Amino acid sequence: MEISFTRYRVYRECPWKYKLLFVDGRRIPMTPKSSFGLSLHRALEAWLRGGELSLESLREALNACWLTSGYPDEEAEARWHAKAERALSRFYGEEQSRRARTVAVEKEFIWTSGAHQVRGMIDRIDQGPDGAYELIDYKTGPSVPSVEEVAQDAQLRFYALGAKRALSLSPETLTVDCVAAGARVSAPYDGAGEEALDADIRAAASGVEAAAFAPDTRFCPRCDFKKDCVYSAAK
Ligand code: SF4
Repeated sequence: MEISFTRYRVYRECPWKYKLLFVDGRRIPMTPKSSFGLSLHRALEAWLRGGELSLESLREALNACWLTSGYPDEEAEARWHAKAERALSRFYGEEQSRRARTVAVEKEFIWTSGAHQVRGMIDRIDQGPDGAYELIDYKTGPSVPSVEEVAQDAQLRFYALGAKRALSLSPETLTVDCVAAGARVSAPYDGAGEEALDADIRAAASGVEAAAFAPDTRFCPRCDFKKDCVYSAAK
């Protein structure tokens, strides 16, 4: 069984949602928010990989990576595109003052935990002038987490474990870069709890393997399937 962060997260939200998505193949339609977020992620990856780190090339990357699906009409799409341009211009300005260098973009890791393979893709890894590694995750929503929330961010902690186990890289800092909100929040990485996380990832993978898909209705109010799921407690 191979488990990624997304599969692990969904299984922990609700095993039945995991079944709908990854066994039955249900799809979640694109929305302006998800389309915008994916476009920004792809543009940043293309820009950092491209090597020419000018504002002009960042704009070109955005246009090349822009997804047109998910918007109700062209007017709405143009508004979101303008918002993406503003966000990336601000991001570019902040990048100019960074002293760290980027050592990896969309870095994949795979490691073995018990009988399972754990896979992930880290948005970006930077290395500071002192040699310390920083794992960066881009978020494209409007909210900005607190330092404490970043320190406990499930995705970054999953990636930190993967970086250590698969890449022999010990991160010292976790960072959420809120590209659209224009804020970058960092927290020191504390490895306490890694064994528990490892065990929980294994348990989730074993649950999937055993087809243990009991619904967990605590997540229903935030679920994409709440309108038509037979078990939904939030119809
Ligand atoms: S609506 Fe509720 S029970 Fe159904 S998949 Fe979503 S979270 Fe699970």
